[in-house]
Amino acid sequence: MRPGADSISNLSISDYHIHTPLCKHAEGDPKEFVSAAKSLGVSEICFTDHCPFPDGYDRPHRMEPDQFSLYREMTSDLCEVSGPHVLFGIEADYYEGCEAHLREWLPRQGFDLVLGSVHFIGNWGFDDPDQKGRWRSVDLKTAWREYFALLARLAMSSLFDVVAHLDLPKKFGHRLTDKEMIEMASPVLDLIAASGMGIELNTGGLRKPVNEIYPSALILGLAKERDIPICFGSDAHAPNEVGFGFADALVLARSAGYTESLLMRQRKRSFKPLPFISDNPPSHHRH
Ligand code: ZN
Ligand code: FE
Ligand code: FE
Ligand code: ZN
Repeated sequence: MRPGADSISNLSISDYHIHTPLCKHAEGDPKEFVSAAKSLGVSEICFTDHCPFPDGYDRPHRMEPDQFSLYREMTSDLCEVSGPHVLFGIEADYYEGCEAHLREWLPRQGFDLVLGSVHFIGNWGFDDPDQKGRWRSVDLKTAWREYFALLARLAMSSLFDVVAHLDLPKKFGHRLTDKEMIEMASPVLDLIAASGMGIELNTGGLRKPVNEIYPSALILGLAKERDIPICFGSDAHAPNEVGFGFADALVLARSAGYTESLLMRQRKRSFKPLPFISDNPPSHHRH
């Protein structure tokens, strides 16, 4: 069905990456995120706040383990008539030593979606603005190689449903050449495809120095060749970021040849068709 020119067709995309203030670096009551989605016509959102870890991993950027029940409470019963469907998920980190805990803990929480992320190379939070300086003292290719080695382990762990912000190390503009990227990303994408995971089009990158969606068109093309499914996430850390840049993300997905996106329920995946690119796209909102 072709949407009318007045419909905000791009926003009938689900937003599967939303944070809450429990992570200590987001703002807005979960209800406000839901209202924002409702006013944009976003059909479905999934809260995916940063996962707590009992070993104290990256404690400053996530809820405490004993706040998890509060997280569940804050994000439940938010579905209202004519509002978005609200899903319950988590953005869990892959790091060396995470497996035993996550393998035991994740399946017991009733999540709809588990995003898998790599935010650290060793003890270096490479996407943390406070640790950005370290990019000056590392070898660019070595850093990316170490990042992809961790992503490969993430893919082989079968702990997660969707890989979040696949080329996150580009956040501050530290890019590989296309040739280097193809060489490093391809084997990891093979593993992601074999694992049955999806990847997200994360529009958070449009709000960062790199000013580009994660992943790049180059990587998304490689993912499509391998039939890796996609979903969309704004990585909203404030209510006005819900659905951010989804018109751009839809164009990127369509250009790569995608025609459908993931629909997650209780970590079971199905698919829904992508909207058409509107003839009269809504003006792009930047914050
Ligand atoms: Zn965050
Ligand atoms: Fe993240
Ligand atoms: Fe996030
Ligand atoms: Zn994130």
